[in-house]
Amino acid sequence: MVIPYVAGSDGEYKTEKPGSCPQGLEDGTTCTVAVKYYRSRKTGPEIRLLVVGCENHGIYFTIYPPGYSPYSRGKWAPVAEDGSLISDEGVKVAQESDAFEATLFSAAIDAARGEKWPESLSPLDRGEGAGIPKGVFQTQKRQIKLFSRLFGLESCSEKLQHAAAEELGISALELRDYAATIRAGPTYRSRAAGIKKILQNLPSTPQLAKRIYKLGSLFGFWGSAHMWTPPPQVLMTSGLVP
Ligand SMILES: [Zn+2]
Repeated sequence: MVIPYVAGSDGEYKTEKPGSCPQGLEDGTTCTVAVKYYRSRKTGPEIRLLVVGCENHGIYFTIYPPGYSPYSRGKWAPVAEDGSLISDEGVKVAQESDAFEATLFSAAIDAARGEKWPESLSPLDRGEGAGIPKGVFQTQKRQIKLFSRLFGLESCSEKLQHAAAEELGISALELRDYAATIRAGPTYRSRAAGIKKILQNLPSTPQLAKRIYKLGSLFGFWGSAHMWTPPPQVLMTSGLVP
């Protein structure tokens, strides 16, 4: 599940417990959710994450800050822990794909400007960069293909492509054009070029992370992304490791 985190006066990030667990959200049954503890993770968000449990359904789950999907090593969107948009300067993002440099999409942004990740990594290479350890070329190619699917650029039904275009804030025609270019020459570079064009045109609103979550649900990357009230809280039930 994803819910905004806010820094307290002691600098520790805290979040609220949700009113329902994933199962309760799915079937509408009553939940009794209780805060269990905060824990650190080796990868992913750098803040300690809240673990909660639902007594009624007998499950424990972790609350992730906006931008992350469960178990993801990096962010999907340039948003802060509280869900607000960020850029390198710490101010609101402009409509530039540069804002996505510090997200998982860096694999595609690098490729679009001709930067191929190394075939292998030495221990010294690991952990370099802004928080996200860049991987090897195989990983870069795999991630690019995954983003291509997330944006409806790979073979998918017209209906799905329409829904994706709407979420991406571009016309279905434009998305079809990008997809056709990739189909004509399905390389990591052609995919990356399409992804970069889409990122550049993504509406830069506080709803950015939600748009990406909705796309992930649409294409089966994770379970349904639930809106939690009051906004801007988002819940996600399950995730994919990119
Ligand atoms: Zn429950």
